[in-house]
Amino acid sequence: MKIFSFIMVFVFCLHAESISPLPSSNSLSSFEKSSTAFDIQTLKTLWKARINAILAQGVIPLIDAESSFNPSKFDLQDYAKIMDDKGVAMIAFSPQIGEKAYSKDSKLWHDSPSVLMNADASRYIPASTAGIYPAWTNESTAFVNETIKQVTKQNYPLLGEFEFKHYLSPRQYKNNETNRDTNITIDSQAGHLLFAFSQKSGLPFQIHYEIEDSLLKPLENMLDTYPKAKVIWCHLAQIRYHEKAQQYTPALVRDLIQRHPNLYFDLAFGDKDSLYKPSNEFHSTIWDRSSGKLKKEWAQLIEDYPYHFLTAFDIGGDRQDELNEKIEVSREVLKSLTPQTQKIVAYKAFWKLVFNEDI
Ligand SMILES: [Zn+2]
Repeated sequence: MKIFSFIMVFVFCLHAESISPLPSSNSLSSFEKSSTAFDIQTLKTLWKARINAILAQGVIPLIDAESSFNPSKFDLQDYAKIMDDKGVAMIAFSPQIGEKAYSKDSKLWHDSPSVLMNADASRYIPASTAGIYPAWTNESTAFVNETIKQVTKQNYPLLGEFEFKHYLSPRQYKNNETNRDTNITIDSQAGHLLFAFSQKSGLPFQIHYEIEDSLLKPLENMLDTYPKAKVIWCHLAQIRYHEKAQQYTPALVRDLIQRHPNLYFDLAFGDKDSLYKPSNEFHSTIWDRSSGKLKKEWAQLIEDYPYHFLTAFDIGGDRQDELNEKIEVSREVLKSLTPQTQKIVAYKAFWKLVFNEDI
């Protein structure tokens, strides 16, 4: 009897630890795809409950604004446990179409967020298919057209990251994968379609756009042409070749925000010691490497415009195992900010941008 009570208490404790019910299986393939569009109002109730439950524990909840996943290699239960343990309210997750799936049937869209939301609706915010090699780079205009069609039909609240200018990621460099050195101009037909859609629909979208002096003007022209388009420029202050980016400073970003109120930035970058091997430079230039805190001018900029900066992990299909580290870096970022700004950057700015309301 005593042993039974002990087991009951133990089981209760395990349940008490998870903030939302754990998914019933760890594999997405165990779940069906939802046949209806996302009901954002109902989902918001679930998401708010998670935010409140994490706040009640005395922890600042994090919403990850920008990550993507490999639908065939994703462990739902592992993620759920880590998220609950570390106070992550939600991940805005965008599926990746790998090379194999693309070459097999030229897919330009992946429906897995519909499955994900059936499996664990509390922990994820559906984001559209990631704009990456090969589907996006081979057929960028068709890719955007398909994205617009599906996002509209299924009521997505957010469009995943489109890689306009993307150097090799550290992992690709290591693996000698040169195909993701992407260069699709921001004012290409695909770019215009995307900005115009965001302007019309009010839906935000994410861009990966390496920081280079010569790329600033074309982006500004697009922001001027589509002033209501909501653009999240991912990876604030991530500079991989300093000689190409002489103009980019906190003052320049401040000026951009003042002139383009619908421009946002995510805070997905490496820790202070992260080295970009192809150039041998510390690419997360936001850090003061001696103090381990954000440089004062960057922290001040975030303090002055907190609703323009979003916490993000930048998990990818090739680094899904890095969730713990990504959470750690995001929490480190918050430490350089005032308590009020921490909350805004952690989750309130996302809520305001994506749902157009305060939380
Ligand atoms: Zn990116």
